[in-house]
Amino acid sequence: MRVIQSLQAMQRQALKWRAERRTIGFVPTMGYLHEGHLSLVRRARRAVGPNGVVVVSIYVNPTQFGPQEDLARYPRDLPRDLQLCRGAGVDVVFTPSDEAMYPGRATGDYSTYVVEEQLSRGMEGASRPTHFRGVTTVVAKLFLLVQPHVAVFGEKDYQQAAIIRRMTRDLNFPLRIVVAPTCREADGLAMSSRNKYLTPEQRQQAVCLYRALCHAREIVRQAPHPVDAHQLRIKLRQEIEARPEARVDYIEFFDPDTLRPQARVMPGHRMALAVWVGTTRLIDNAAL
Ligand code: AMP
Repeated sequence: MRVIQSLQAMQRQALKWRAERRTIGFVPTMGYLHEGHLSLVRRARRAVGPNGVVVVSIYVNPTQFGPQEDLARYPRDLPRDLQLCRGAGVDVVFTPSDEAMYPGRATGDYSTYVVEEQLSRGMEGASRPTHFRGVTTVVAKLFLLVQPHVAVFGEKDYQQAAIIRRMTRDLNFPLRIVVAPTCREADGLAMSSRNKYLTPEQRQQAVCLYRALCHAREIVRQAPHPVDAHQLRIKLRQEIEARPEARVDYIEFFDPDTLRPQARVMPGHRMALAVWVGTTRLIDNAAL
């Protein structure tokens, strides 16, 4: 396994692979890897076949964090991440630096961004106004550096995956986007690097996101008519906030393709939610 830091070296390697007709699979991450990330690596490996190559990027992208967010304390453990990537059969780990990715940004000299203008408005975009601009910008840059034929994203970040799909279509990136299912802990909590922030008590309370998704699905599937979103939201919020440290940021019911909010919720719609557990903000989503 090779670790590449330089942008030029990464792009050169990618172009060389392409000249050799080798299929490139790509999994972008912010590191502090867990089983969810590794499931994406396995999915990428399956997509590219035995003669293909798999690249994992590990980069905590500063432009997707708001000024009050957790950029500085985001968990990092590169030696452990490299070990996990080696074990998963990754060919190249790409670890660019901030200076290389955003030249001049510290002095206000970086000025080019990629913005998706529809799907990124609601949910995470409403709570974190500059978040998706950072995501689309870094992913577009990574696509140009890694030149993948296929890139794998997690359904855990459903809105993000939808936005990346849209960006890929709208900007004609010549690659296929694959979205892989959410990996969960035994009690249902979606795996996340941010789970590390939780105290043992908070960790127990954090199952409330998954419980809310399951309860919503049960209600929507058993109802003889579409369910009123407002009423359902109130009920779920009460259940979540019965836990002492859990506070709802949003609960949304939406069309899985357009991400448009739905006032009357039916099977086939999707639910997403963001919940503060203490000072940690967790997200999850599922089909209803
Ligand atoms: P992150 O390192 O959190 O930016 O995530 C990198 C990629 O892993 C994104 O495509 C995420 O959607 C995906 N991912 C994160 N957590 C999970 C999970 N529990 N299951 C599946 N994919 C995940």
